[in-house]
Amino acid sequence: MTVASLTERDVDKPTARYISTRGNGAPTTFDDALLTGLAPDGGLYLPMAWPRLSAEHLVPHHPRSYADLAHAALSPFVGEALSAQEVTTAIDHMVAGFRHAAVTPLKQIDEDLWLLELFHGPTLAFKDCAMRLMARLAPAALAKTGEDLLLITATSGDTGAAAVNAFAHAERIRLVVLHPEGRVSPVQHKQMTTVDAPNVLNLAVAGDFDDCQRMVKALLADPQLGRGARVSSVNSINWGRLAGQIPYYLAACRALDGPIRAITPTGNFGDAFAGWVARAMGAPIAAITAAVNQNDALARVLETGVYTRCPAQPSASVSMDVQAPSNFERLVFEASQRDAAVTTQLFADFAERGQARLPEGLHAALREEVHAIAVDEASTHAEIARTFQLSGDIICPHTAVGVAAARALPREGPPRVVLATAHPAKFPGAITAALGAPPPTPDAIAALDDLPVRAVSIAPDIEIAKAAIDTRWA
Ligand SMILES: *Cc1c(COP(=O)(O)O)cnc(C)c1O
Repeated sequence: MTVASLTERDVDKPTARYISTRGNGAPTTFDDALLTGLAPDGGLYLPMAWPRLSAEHLVPHHPRSYADLAHAALSPFVGEALSAQEVTTAIDHMVAGFRHAAVTPLKQIDEDLWLLELFHGPTLAFKDCAMRLMARLAPAALAKTGEDLLLITATSGDTGAAAVNAFAHAERIRLVVLHPEGRVSPVQHKQMTTVDAPNVLNLAVAGDFDDCQRMVKALLADPQLGRGARVSSVNSINWGRLAGQIPYYLAACRALDGPIRAITPTGNFGDAFAGWVARAMGAPIAAITAAVNQNDALARVLETGVYTRCPAQPSASVSMDVQAPSNFERLVFEASQRDAAVTTQLFADFAERGQARLPEGLHAALREEVHAIAVDEASTHAEIARTFQLSGDIICPHTAVGVAAARALPREGPPRVVLATAHPAKFPGAITAALGAPPPTPDAIAALDDLPVRAVSIAPDIEIAKAAIDTRWA
């Protein structure tokens, strides 16, 4: 066993006990946080303390594999909830789904500017990393209690594709994905609906993404729904999703031998918060920049100290069209020195009035933790074209938001590492608009063309959704 001593020392330590950002309830375990998702008081789970990585994990070019690095990073969060072997099995499963030997390779595209390619997994977006881990960790946790789990999630595309792919045939788990009919990209639609698995149900809702999200909320609140099974979701409020995104930040620091500046294209601030955690664990990340599109609530609150809700406007980087980033709550909790009262008040105000003002000290503290840069649609398109001209690389619109933000940072400083969150082939429309031709289609996508679509079309009505779920697993 090559896992470092830190793993053994920290078992059953505060790093494996979870508290809510709203401050209520007794601390719980990793498996409970994983299977519950949102804490019962409406807050988000975080470990009671952050583990520290030992220096050996960050030694440059260490022969330790991605899987070993991931094991060292994740074990302190798991504690005694699962065995080391169960964690190893989950990580090996995750890695086996990736088509690149480095799993998340770095690619240089300019002087001191790198892409951290997170899209070599089965559905060509970074969500594969954490979703594949969860699809093995969750059944292991369920086996301990003999429970079953019903997962319900709304998607605008990437989450559903990654979840269906990862959870298909997972033991003890059924997955229901609601997507807005006709409003997800053709590639995402195929990835989601062509998987033939007895535990997966796609619901194509005649409505928009907000309808889907509203229905999921109502379904999750329905005590009858699971019929005795646990009921949860797989969006990035789930601690498991975040934890699975920590290792690639460590891998980037190690590969570049020292401090980096991380630039993360962000919607719900999940992937960016994983970078914050990596830094809290000791990774040499000099600065974290959240790159947002025209839906810039996060950039505005950091700029002005006022958190305001406004309707999301559709953009080319669709997976970032979010105006109330759910993981912002985790950042507020941390920046307020884990003040649950302040956190609760802020998000209660925001929920009630659609606007909340940060206390002065908190605003300053948040600005110490992260930066945010907003990139508009014209600049996103221009960046796809510029990067192609400069280095020949075709980047997806989400990645382009990150690259444009990175180029706006000062050149001097540690290497700028942009998280490349999806493969360009998932978004041929945006690429064609920017470059005049679509990107090449990878075999993994072309192979889906002839497969039958498996989805049930429903009206945006919760009773109809419940009936569809009951029928599927009658
Ligand atoms: C989900 C997604 C994002 C946003 O991730 P968050 O964790 O919500 O910040 C960015 N890019 C792509 C391609 C995505 O699928």
